[in-house]
Amino acid sequence: MGRSSPHVKEMIEKPHLDILLCAPRGFCAGVDRAIQIVDLALKKYGAPVYVRHEIVHNKFVVDSLRAKGAIFVEELEEIPADNEAPVIFSAHGVAKSVPVEARSRNMFFLDATCPLVTKVHVEAQRHAEDGRDIVLIGHKGHPEVIGTMGQLPPGRISLIETVEDAEAFAPRDADNLALVTQTTLSVDDTSAIVLVLKSRFPNISVPHKEDICYATTNRQEAVKFVAPKVDAMIVVGAPNSSNSMRLVEVGERAGCKVSVLVQRAEDIDWAQFDGISSLGITAGASAPESLVEEVIAAFAERFTVNVEIAVTAEENIAFNIPRVLRQLEDSVGR
Ligand code: SF4
Repeated sequence: MGRSSPHVKEMIEKPHLDILLCAPRGFCAGVDRAIQIVDLALKKYGAPVYVRHEIVHNKFVVDSLRAKGAIFVEELEEIPADNEAPVIFSAHGVAKSVPVEARSRNMFFLDATCPLVTKVHVEAQRHAEDGRDIVLIGHKGHPEVIGTMGQLPPGRISLIETVEDAEAFAPRDADNLALVTQTTLSVDDTSAIVLVLKSRFPNISVPHKEDICYATTNRQEAVKFVAPKVDAMIVVGAPNSSNSMRLVEVGERAGCKVSVLVQRAEDIDWAQFDGISSLGITAGASAPESLVEEVIAAFAERFTVNVEIAVTAEENIAFNIPRVLRQLEDSVGR
């Protein structure tokens, strides 16, 4: 027998790894739209374009847009007084005071708030107009929660983060309450909180379908399907991305002992994957597919990988990109 070529030898020596790739994973329609708005604004108006808060919670995306001329700020006050460049609000949505301030400073702004977040804002306002106080289930300090709470005057929206909060909640009028939620929560945790609120306040108005968005729900379902079948689970995403962190938790709860967040291939702690023979991979709604490919390529350097896709839902949602384009077209004559 002849000697094995170096390539064959390498194949033999690498351990085998079955990768189950969750589908759907990664970019959702709201993130896709928000990034396109920044891209289009840069093309149309040229650099710089100001973006209030990370347009979506992903460092790679933010760095790429920064390289094209986007300037990221946390508050409008950081933007120079004589600025004429467009200002874009991130996908997470903003409090009502933000566009008010932008108008008072004669800023030209574009709102990249995801339409599913705007839907929650509208629901909250409608309930308030009907005289209800609002309970918002969400995570304190998350920009989406700040934006939703900022749709109404202080005191009209109470934030509930946990079952314990729901058990202790003391409303002004228990018969006049409505519920809204952050869009990127754990489906299971939220159901538990809703159960407590419904049992304590039977007249609370609850949305027909919770406000947790289709992308969050589908990505969590995919992880629930894949995680019990694999030795380890990787969520490609960012630590400040709520939906990514929920996917890590869902993986753990579904019985996967190693369920970890990875921002980029270079962050992989290889010791965690020692001796595994199967791996599930997903990505948060703000993580680009190129980062998933990067992670798979890194595993392929150390393992002989076999990649299969586990499809648990089909997604064909896109948000009104033509209208956004028209909006940008229209805005040229500002
Ligand atoms: S995760 Fe859901 S709510 Fe957030 S941007 Fe994507 S589609 Fe919109």
